[in-house]
Amino acid sequence: METLPFNACDYRCERCLATERCAVFKDLSAREARNFALGRDSDGLGAALRDVGEIFGETRNMLAEKAAEYGIDLDELADAGPRDTFEEAKKDPLYLSAFDFMIQAQEFLKTAEPIVLIEGCDFLEDITWHHTVVPAKVFRAIGSEDDPEMRFDAVNSAAVAMNSLTICIMAFGALAPLYPVIERECKELSLKAMELKQYIGSRFCPGS
Ligand code: SF4
Repeated sequence: METLPFNACDYRCERCLATERCAVFKDLSAREARNFALGRDSDGLGAALRDVGEIFGETRNMLAEKAAEYGIDLDELADAGPRDTFEEAKKDPLYLSAFDFMIQAQEFLKTAEPIVLIEGCDFLEDITWHHTVVPAKVFRAIGSEDDPEMRFDAVNSAAVAMNSLTICIMAFGALAPLYPVIERECKELSLKAMELKQYIGSRFCPGS
């Protein structure tokens, strides 16, 4: 069975056609079933933080097992500090631009949420999901950019960011004529998303 490229995924599982062969989806479903069996919530910030804490715990155990297998002393690595590439990625103009888009989209959502009615809900939901995917995937793309073995990861991550921007642009385009009171903001953000998409494409997918 073909392995899914998870770096090419926007984690919007409810709209994904690959759930049956996806290990991440299987893991999330198992976690939900376990929470249900234990009488615990799966929704909300508290539940998310608890689940993330458990995932980190499981990951730490797996790392410890692998380290023991390869004779690596993890304590020696404890002082290594953050990876330079990620520190550099945080200052990268492309990442800063993607982050800025996310902040502006968040401001837009605060204004739009009380205004948008049923006919615009799906578009607002699209923006709500995808505006956060953009900086996350751009950050990952930049972090993988300089390692030839991770080039595929950079390109896939950039492609997801561009796809999320396309979905946002389409949603802004649909909301503008429906709600003239937010038309100007929709147009401005749509333009910013188009510029950002071009910026990402020229850096990671030149010639596409
Ligand atoms: S099922 Fe979810 S995690 Fe798996 S590929 Fe689809 S969107 Fe990504």
